[in-house]
Amino acid sequence: MRGKNGTMKNYDVIIVGAGPAGIFAALELLLSPKKYRILIVEKGKDIDKRACPTTTKNVSCAACRECDLLSGWGGAGAFSDGKLSLSPDVGGFLSRYMDADEVRRLIGYADDIYLKYGAPRELFGATPDSIAELERHASRNGLVLVPSPIRHIGTDRCRELLKVMRDDIDGRVDAVFQTAAQSVIVENGAYRGVLLQDGSKVFSGSLILAPGREGSRWLEEEAKKLCLTLLKNPVDVGVRVELPASVFEPLTKMTYEPKLLFYSKKFDDKVRTFCVNPYGEVVKEYLKGIWTVNGHSYAERRTSNTNFALLVSTFFTEPFDQPISYGRYIAQLANFLGKGVIVQRLGDLTAGRRSTQERIAKGIVRPTLTDATPGDLSFVIPYRHLCDIMEMLEALDSIAPGVNSRHTLLYGVEVKFYSMQVKLSTVLETEIPNIFAVGDGAGVSRGLIQASASGIVAAREIMKRI
Ligand SMILES: Cc1cc2nc3c(=O)[nH]c(=O)nc-3n(C[C@H](O)[C@H](O)[C@H](O)COP(=O)(O)OP(=O)(O)OC[C@H]3O[C@@H](n4cnc5c(N)ncnc54)[C@H](O)[C@@H]3O)c2cc1C
Repeated sequence: MRGKNGTMKNYDVIIVGAGPAGIFAALELLLSPKKYRILIVEKGKDIDKRACPTTTKNVSCAACRECDLLSGWGGAGAFSDGKLSLSPDVGGFLSRYMDADEVRRLIGYADDIYLKYGAPRELFGATPDSIAELERHASRNGLVLVPSPIRHIGTDRCRELLKVMRDDIDGRVDAVFQTAAQSVIVENGAYRGVLLQDGSKVFSGSLILAPGREGSRWLEEEAKKLCLTLLKNPVDVGVRVELPASVFEPLTKMTYEPKLLFYSKKFDDKVRTFCVNPYGEVVKEYLKGIWTVNGHSYAERRTSNTNFALLVSTFFTEPFDQPISYGRYIAQLANFLGKGVIVQRLGDLTAGRRSTQERIAKGIVRPTLTDATPGDLSFVIPYRHLCDIMEMLEALDSIAPGVNSRHTLLYGVEVKFYSMQVKLSTVLETEIPNIFAVGDGAGVSRGLIQASASGIVAAREIMKRI
């Protein structure tokens, strides 16, 4: 980064964040014969050095300064389940910026890159006849099935694939790790460079901001400082459901990740399934001071349970404009009452009593998250959200009998924050020329494939200009 005479190097492009959005931007830029000078700034570690103490030392979360699960080469995707949702309707909002055909083309292009670097060829949910029948069955029961072919890389294989990408880029791009971008330098309305955490400055013609959910607060602060327009977003609050894998098999056999939507009768709220993990595990997620719940599955390791989230999208009325604080507040309530994540049998919830270790032990579903505290989610989740969730469980039971069983486990709270949206052009450029914002952190995507595709969009525009 620093030249031999101690002066700072200038770059053509600086990319902040080495998650899928940042990596795919770099890969695209490298296709150009022009040999751009590219710098990637990443606050986490390089892929080989990323290791979460919960797995390497078998301890509970050590609340590391930078979370190795979310930060570093590969971003939040490195340890993710690696399910690529190959539909413009899933995992992001690229369709806000371009038409659906263009999004489809981009998704196909990004998918081919994943294949090139080692993603498996098998596709789930791509058999039209069986999906059409499932769609009909769902709609007869008040549910909407959003068809989306899925490529499942698997948590373990994801890391290998990211390593191959890293090796490919190595030497052709400068990369600094464990160094955060502190602020964006703009002079007289024109982009100049980036001030790094160590006090040094780097300059470039263009900037791609790809800080992910982990860096969305930072991006929001920077956007405010730079007087960029911010758009409002909802928050998704709900639970993670765990049940015997056989119960959900009618759905997971046909489409690896059944995406189902439901509008509740009482409140007319949108409830949706999210992140279905057949034969997977429920896991805890530490989000800057709060514990929430999540789930994943391994390509090579199976449990006998399936888990998925049921999320209620909540839009707020004026004057409230802090959806992230609202979601954190509810998750904090669960942490406050349960010293972490709470687990409850559905039967206990409907009977109006808490779950205890004894009651959980009597159930037929063995919790895969063993350190969740048996408790009472009705003390935590607002009435409206709880009604919505119970209604959706009933609807799901009609297409996968057994979902609404008293043995089904509910873990709380699962919260999905939408990063605030920065106002962007159709090529994902901010109101300041040559500053692009992509991926989950900018509110453009919510999944691996659209995050990757958004990086490509910014890179292509920059290539046109240089
Ligand atoms: C447990 C889990 C499971 C998931 N499973 C799936 C799945 O199966 N399928 C799917 O499609 N999606 C999944 N996701 C979501 C997916 O990982 C994200 O959508 C995707 O990684 C977003 O890519 P990104 O590049 O926008 O951001 P990220 O992957 O979050 O990367 C952003 C990077 O920027 C860095 N950064 C942030 N701020 C700064 C700064 N100021 N300076 C320097 N660096 C900075 C961060 O450290 C991070 O490495 C999962 C996420 C999690 C947490």
